[in-house]
Amino acid sequence: MSQLWRVAVDAPMPEALTYEAPPGLGIHRGQLVNVPLGRGKRLTQGLVLGPAAEAPGGFTIKSIESIDDEHATLPEPFVQWLEWLSKYYIHPPGMTSLLAYPPLKKQGREQKSRKAPVIPQVASQEPPVLTPEQAACIGAIEGHEGFSTHLVFGVTGSGKTEIYLRLLEKTLEKGQAGLVLVPEISLTPQLIHRFASRFGDSIAALHSQLTPRERTNQWWDMIEGRKKILIGARSALFCPLPNLGLIVVDEEHEPSFKQEEKLKYHGRDAAVMLGCFHKCPVVLGSATPSLESWNNAKEGKYHLHRLRNRVANRSLPDMHIVDLRKPEPPEREVPRDLPFWMSPRLYLDMIDTLARQEQAALFLNRRGLAHMVVCPSCGHTRECPNCDINLTLHAGTHLVCHYCDYHENFRRKCQDCSEGEMEAIGLGTELLEKDLHRLFPGARIARADRDEIQNRADLEDLISKMETGDIDILVGTQMIAKGLDFPKLKLVGLVLADIGFNLPDFRATERSFQLITQMAGRSGRHIREGEKPGTVVVQTYNTEHDSLRFALHHDFEGFAESEIQFRGQLNYPPSGRLLAFRIQANGLEKAQVTAQRLADRARTLQGTREPYKGLEVLGPAEAPLSRIKNQFRFQLLIKGSRADRLNAFARQILGDEEWIPNGARVLVDVDPLSLL
Ligand code: ADP
Ligand code: ZN
Repeated sequence: MSQLWRVAVDAPMPEALTYEAPPGLGIHRGQLVNVPLGRGKRLTQGLVLGPAAEAPGGFTIKSIESIDDEHATLPEPFVQWLEWLSKYYIHPPGMTSLLAYPPLKKQGREQKSRKAPVIPQVASQEPPVLTPEQAACIGAIEGHEGFSTHLVFGVTGSGKTEIYLRLLEKTLEKGQAGLVLVPEISLTPQLIHRFASRFGDSIAALHSQLTPRERTNQWWDMIEGRKKILIGARSALFCPLPNLGLIVVDEEHEPSFKQEEKLKYHGRDAAVMLGCFHKCPVVLGSATPSLESWNNAKEGKYHLHRLRNRVANRSLPDMHIVDLRKPEPPEREVPRDLPFWMSPRLYLDMIDTLARQEQAALFLNRRGLAHMVVCPSCGHTRECPNCDINLTLHAGTHLVCHYCDYHENFRRKCQDCSEGEMEAIGLGTELLEKDLHRLFPGARIARADRDEIQNRADLEDLISKMETGDIDILVGTQMIAKGLDFPKLKLVGLVLADIGFNLPDFRATERSFQLITQMAGRSGRHIREGEKPGTVVVQTYNTEHDSLRFALHHDFEGFAESEIQFRGQLNYPPSGRLLAFRIQANGLEKAQVTAQRLADRARTLQGTREPYKGLEVLGPAEAPLSRIKNQFRFQLLIKGSRADRLNAFARQILGDEEWIPNGARVLVDVDPLSLL
């Protein structure tokens, strides 16, 4: 009898399929093969996972058609990692595995283009002398053999990137490859330039702006060893690097490491697992670590390394909080018609900054829902009584909790102070820009948000104008909070920190803390010793908010401790684990019925088995973004203490999926990051 094989085919099948191999084909695990699928003659690609013990009953076993000889066998640790991804994130194994191949065939003609090369040729640069903190961190990381995870917690400008560069140098010396993951938006020419000036043409890069041909070529350069260090956004993980010796995840707290569609993996967590299978070190870096990573470090799963100081004795910026409810009287005269979002303090600081020919940046976190309700006289915002989550205003008439579906009517009069009238706030960057032109005639003003900056070229253009000093005032969304390094930027203003506090998400406070700290970190990065440090002005109606109290003192650790304790009371991550089901359908009623069926299945199952009784089933509730592209959306959340139990529970609830009505879909999101 011929040998049977398990093949993960590129189709939405929850398990690998069984095929037989014609004699003499020489099949083994990790190979890419072509197999017939369905009734016709259609061939599909698939990854061979291993021999199958026996044929499943009731099916005719088909034969593997051929081996795809363009691609060598994937490294064993890499195949193990793909299997882990598929199991952990409950995603079809074939659709997971096929991500490990480039978009085009290897041989193909390069499209003639005038595009700049992916990696520019730049002059090499002497590395700086390490600070004692950098040297200690590098020494400690190098003291570990094999797999270990390191959290480099260093304030903004403390020289984390230099640490990665040194560790990568050592990796190259050992003849191994290195992988560096950064958020897509941080993968700027500035960063690639910095790596290229150290490693010359040993580097390759993968990001979303490459053409499929460029992607394919970068991929092969790494696989065939012409390049040794791959810098990329999260999907670079899927390049099956031979002989991987080091993985770096910079800005590990960034939500963009989470993929929100299809395979809903978290790039950081997947990177740690990849390092585990490859038995190599993984280095995570951030000035504001995610509470998940912080908790892992506190529990001893990750090794913690601190960098408390900026390099070259540069001080952290001075932080000032302005209470928008009662701004202090100005030191000097200010125009009487300042818009409500511009305090006299911020205005005067801007005047002074511009007079010194330095730059100012104003930041407004307008992500997510435009509406929150706040009382302008006492700062009160409406929260859900069951969930400690801010309520969202719907249609101007009622307030809703997106976790448990609590509803109440929207009342104008503030229920806290009985004086103010609740206001829905909808301030945007565009409005700021308009006001700024009026307030600072003659100043050169640029805006950076998703409307204005639509691609990499726009962003590059903006960066170079900031560097050459052709912009005086930059206005933007979180887009400008990330990684950018402008010598002349001395004043950062956070226009209305509150918008970030009030997203209907339990991570809102953490996100606010991160954004405030990261944004503040853009200020005064290049001051010389003895020079006045950069300035940060944070405007808010909620001066007592946790994210502000701690950010004011650059106190991440205090913040983390308080927030983790708070989350623990409600079993939210990192104390507990979370799994989200997203229900989508083309009609409201269908979505509703499906969501209810799902919830019924969950609650029934919960009653049948002891370990499931400890889980919490929340919902179903309409998703905050209740309709996207004409799909109606609901969600059901499961909370528990163990990931493996949640995983098993979710698989059992889904079952054969035959209970899901036609036209409806139920998607699983393990460790969901956004609950919108
Ligand atoms: P981080 O990644 O922690 O924000 P960077 O690695 O970008 O910090 O370093 C901040 C700045 O300091 C960069 O301009 C970098 O070139 C410079 N730098 C890093 N390490 C040193 C050092 N040991 N001596 C002098 N300058 C340094
Ligand atoms: Zn609630």
